[in-house]
Amino acid sequence: MTFKTDIQIAREANKKPIQEIGEKLGIPTDHLLPFGHDKAKVSADFIKGLKGKTDGKLILVTAINPTPAGEGKTTTTVGLGDGLNRIGKKAAICIREASLGPCFGMKGGAAGGGYAQVIPMEDMNLHFTGDFHAITSAHNLLAAMIDNHIYWGNELEIDERRVVWRRVLDMNDRALRDTVTSLGGIANGFPRQTGFDITVASEVMAILCLATDLKDLEKRLGDIIVAYRRDRTPVYARDLKADGAMTVLLQQAMQPNIVQTLENNPAFVHGGPFANIAHGCNSVIATTTALKLADYVVTEAGFGADLGAEKFMNIKCRKAGIAPDCVVLVATVRAMKMNGGVAKGDLGAENVEAVQHGCANLGRHIGNMKSFGVPVVVAINHFTSDTDAEIQAVKHYVASQGSEAILCKHWEKGSAGITELATRVAEIADAGISQFAPLYPDDLPLFEKIERIAKSIYRADEVLADKKIRDQLRTWEDAGFGHLPICMAKTQYSFSTDPDLRGAPVGHSVPVREVRLAAGAGFIVAICGEIMTMPGLPRVPSAETIKLNPQGEIEGLF
Ligand code: ADP
Ligand code: MG
Repeated sequence: MTFKTDIQIAREANKKPIQEIGEKLGIPTDHLLPFGHDKAKVSADFIKGLKGKTDGKLILVTAINPTPAGEGKTTTTVGLGDGLNRIGKKAAICIREASLGPCFGMKGGAAGGGYAQVIPMEDMNLHFTGDFHAITSAHNLLAAMIDNHIYWGNELEIDERRVVWRRVLDMNDRALRDTVTSLGGIANGFPRQTGFDITVASEVMAILCLATDLKDLEKRLGDIIVAYRRDRTPVYARDLKADGAMTVLLQQAMQPNIVQTLENNPAFVHGGPFANIAHGCNSVIATTTALKLADYVVTEAGFGADLGAEKFMNIKCRKAGIAPDCVVLVATVRAMKMNGGVAKGDLGAENVEAVQHGCANLGRHIGNMKSFGVPVVVAINHFTSDTDAEIQAVKHYVASQGSEAILCKHWEKGSAGITELATRVAEIADAGISQFAPLYPDDLPLFEKIERIAKSIYRADEVLADKKIRDQLRTWEDAGFGHLPICMAKTQYSFSTDPDLRGAPVGHSVPVREVRLAAGAGFIVAICGEIMTMPGLPRVPSAETIKLNPQGEIEGLF
């Protein structure tokens, strides 16, 4: 059987004008700020007026540890949103915007796949409504103002060796990881070693995604630590008077975007922080707005549940005062096989034993999600190569863990393939049985927060950290940052810090290499292992095959 590509399916979609999609959520046309015919922003004024309305139910889609076999979280998020609408519920979807870097690097878009996609997928994977460009500009304005301040006499006494604010670009470009700026003579300032990160790793991105409104945005931007003085006291963006202008650059970008699914249901697509160095989910403003407008909101957290969902719960929900009513854990037979030790090339052959073996990974994620007090359903994202025996093996295992697994065929059939999951999820959410609680209280010492995550989510025996790191955490506690949550930055491929350790490892240690204070975003990043904040392009980047065809249509975007 041959299947159409994602872009072919997307192009054949029967798109409705964006005003009609807004109407489904009761957004009046004068509060829908259109970008072309099929994209719009929801006005800040309209959002302000929603205060006091009751919230719909929140459904979080997360997954097992990712494997190169692919899991399909976004595909399932979109499919479930369509499925809920199909069974007569008023549902909206909330997902992240795409970064240009991975789009031109590795094959794979951010709009879902098959018959569960948001459209226009071309725009969404490219410039979309310009939010990432605005974030890049705001970030780099601050960088320019730092160097400019130093150039004109450095009244704030910034230690040039301790400038921690780098520059950003929304591109995979390893050549810019480490750079020297201000070369070329006196008129260009003081040469300084620095570098670039990808825009999605910017603290401005994390801030935009956690801010509740423009005022909160401006405050958080002011709280960014840009450098330290010789006496180690921090210099804030506020000290440079950069927060006002940065907020101006971000005013439009703060308004959430809506588009539609292939089945003409509303989808919020807004913000896109990295899931390692940041918290990895769409903006708080998109989620809280969607909750006011729809009865059910389906949203996604990046990577596996050990990283993405943990941060969704401990950072986003805690900060935004929201809580999931149900968690959908996406698993695939293929990924179970890989976790069970099968090589990527051999995934086509039936191997029930490997599936059973790999289920240990799924089992641990189920337990972890339940430990937050939320009900869990497993969605088996069906691949056409899955055999009945393999599917039964997953279902049987999940039942043995006291949960249920439901087979979903949304990739192949759209909403018609996912009505069973939609019905069950609505039932669970309506039952109101979720008793969400974050994993640790605000006032737990910072190091103990890291230990809590490592021991209860990763099942590590211990956290290893130098005296330097422990001292740093204590210094931040003394400076009033002890209440902040932890943003773990570790490999997404394993519960441990070793990407090759699949399944459900025990007895491992979690070494913390570095800690960073993101005072504006409001979390402390604990870096465990090598974390890339500026990816490179692969040997054969997908940019080589992206082009316009003679009809002027985009080809090669998956
Ligand atoms: P995630 O959000 O977990 O990173 P996506 O939903 O973006 O994953 O899916 C990754 C890729 O896998 C997409 O290109 C999508 O088309 C493909 N995919 C997802 N589900 C299926 C499926 N059931 N069968 C075949 N391909 C799928
Ligand atoms: Mg995704």
